[in-house]
Amino acid sequence: MSPSATTTAVFVPSDGLNVLVIGGGLCGLGTAISTSLAGHSVTVFEAAPELHEIGAGLQITPNANRLLKRWGLWESLAPVAAAPQQLSIRRFDGRLLAQRLDYDEETKRKYGVPTWCLHRVDLQQALLRRATELGVEIRFGQRVHDIDFERNQITLQSGETAVGDVVIAADGLWSAVRNKFLGIETPPKPTGDLAYRVTINVDEVDDPELLEVIQKPGNNIWIGPSRHAVGYNVRNGKLFNMVLLVPDDLPEGVRKQPGNIAEMRKLFEDWDPILTKLLARVEKVEKWKLMHHPPLERLATDTGRFLIAYVCL
Ligand SMILES: Cc1cc2nc3c(=O)[nH]c(=O)nc-3n(C[C@H](O)[C@H](O)[C@H](O)COP(=O)(O)OP(=O)(O)OC[C@H]3O[C@@H](n4cnc5c(N)ncnc54)[C@H](O)[C@@H]3O)c2cc1C
Repeated sequence: MSPSATTTAVFVPSDGLNVLVIGGGLCGLGTAISTSLAGHSVTVFEAAPELHEIGAGLQITPNANRLLKRWGLWESLAPVAAAPQQLSIRRFDGRLLAQRLDYDEETKRKYGVPTWCLHRVDLQQALLRRATELGVEIRFGQRVHDIDFERNQITLQSGETAVGDVVIAADGLWSAVRNKFLGIETPPKPTGDLAYRVTINVDEVDDPELLEVIQKPGNNIWIGPSRHAVGYNVRNGKLFNMVLLVPDDLPEGVRKQPGNIAEMRKLFEDWDPILTKLLARVEKVEKWKLMHHPPLERLATDTGRFLIAYVCL
């Protein structure tokens, strides 16, 4: 059977479907929670032996935040979220281009929920806790090695097999399941940019000029020639997360490596003095190649029993 663009409806018995999810990242755990809340029995197969606690800040816009609310995650995440109170967009030299000082009130008024900034690890842990609480079985250290789209059967690296009423692949940007589904290799493509990622502990800063920008949760953007920088608080405002986007100079095939702080500062040396002061405080930086994958023409088999779930940014 070849995967096709049209799908038929799947019959759902009263006690729900047996759903197999491949991948326990943000997408896989979110998929597991939403299908479990819909009354299905869910098992997640995750290749890693435990949760990868990597990453830093994520901006959760109101559409995504509504989902977190629906999934019952608000109470556990509220204490570690930071809701930006203001949004400021500056030219690279610091001149203010646009500002909303009522960003939080305006967002809540328009969309009913705030924008939240979360640490990726906090979100991942909350998703895992909620999925477990809902009875989702999460099997770490179980890499899916093969998949039979006709029988809806997955084979793990250990040789064990499992058959689901529905199989959902959420194995990320470098998905091997996607390659099997399409029958061709479809590696992600470089965007041409890389991100320097840094964090600053707000409690360790005593410079009043910097505190003015980072003490109260906000969303700060600096735009300049071929580069831009974004800074916002996470962890209830206690951590200031910065992402600095510049043209990619990492060698082909290198996805991430420790960054050189002096090199990063040099790229922003004639920018807003606030930004350069912030960068002067950085003790450690990581350099990430930014990759993407073009949208797929089809995301399911024509039986509707195999689907691909993606995180879209
Ligand atoms: C390590 C990391 C850190 C990031 N940090 C940030 C950040 O700080 N800020 C930000 O804005 N964005 C960040 N991103 C981007 C954003 O978090 C991603 O868009 C998001 O993680 C994608 O979620 P996903 O579940 O689709 O994929 P992933 O998070 O990549 O999860 C896919 C999961 O599938 C598992 N898997 C893969 N193949 C198999 C298989 N064959 N069998 C079983 N399991 C399999 C992997 O081990 C992985 O856990 C980060 C992404 C990654 C991967």
